[in-house]
Amino acid sequence: MKKSAAKKKKRSKKQATGGAPRRPADPAYEAISRREKETVVEIIAGGQTADKALEVGLSALVWADHGLARFDLESDLPRPLACSEGCDHCCFNQVELTPPEALGIGHFVERHFCPEERAGLLARIRMALDAKAGKSQREIAKIRLELPCPLLQAARCSVYPVRPLVCRAMHSLDAGQCQSSLQAGDLTSGAYYSQRHELVQAIARGLQAGSRAMGCQSGSLDLARALLDYFQQPDPLVRWLRGDKVFSL
Ligand code: SF4
Repeated sequence: MKKSAAKKKKRSKKQATGGAPRRPADPAYEAISRREKETVVEIIAGGQTADKALEVGLSALVWADHGLARFDLESDLPRPLACSEGCDHCCFNQVELTPPEALGIGHFVERHFCPEERAGLLARIRMALDAKAGKSQREIAKIRLELPCPLLQAARCSVYPVRPLVCRAMHSLDAGQCQSSLQAGDLTSGAYYSQRHELVQAIARGLQAGSRAMGCQSGSLDLARALLDYFQQPDPLVRWLRGDKVFSL
């Protein structure tokens, strides 16, 4: 992957869910995408168990972390990342993710949240969905300060080990700009390194392509809606592997 200058433009947490690339495909990213697709196909061909469904999403998360760490380590970055622990401005965006990522988060909540925490999460999810209902993206952006991600708790991600691909890619070189944009109710971000997003987009495309190839539901999901879907039905992991439509798109 080539190194290029930091970019400054409008950006949201919707960029890593496998949508069309913004410019002609870079062979390096296409190779990454193909490799993730092959990994997904191999995992699913190994059996239709809940473990396999979790493994599909984990393969993408692990590879994204590895690729991002290598990029940060090996690139001669002109400016350091401005992100720091406890800085949560980008968690006031609307997150989109793939079905395997949503399954991983749902499972994590089942395993690690107590009944009260789970009830609190479901209440926040319903509030977020009600607040967004019937609104355009622009109208939602205007009220983003009142719409934190339902998984944000005390300025921290409550599912950090399995947070979505797009959250892993998200970063800024200017935390002040992130704060101003949040308070102004727009989606203009400070400068950032587009390669981090392109890497994760490539992995997300491979994840989607592998899922599709094996007859499993793919597509971009709204995080809040996807988690509600997860908790409203039995055995979502195995049902997804069997090709059922687990999530509403
Ligand atoms: S999933 Fe976690 S990291 Fe992503 S927006 Fe929500 S709280 Fe933030």
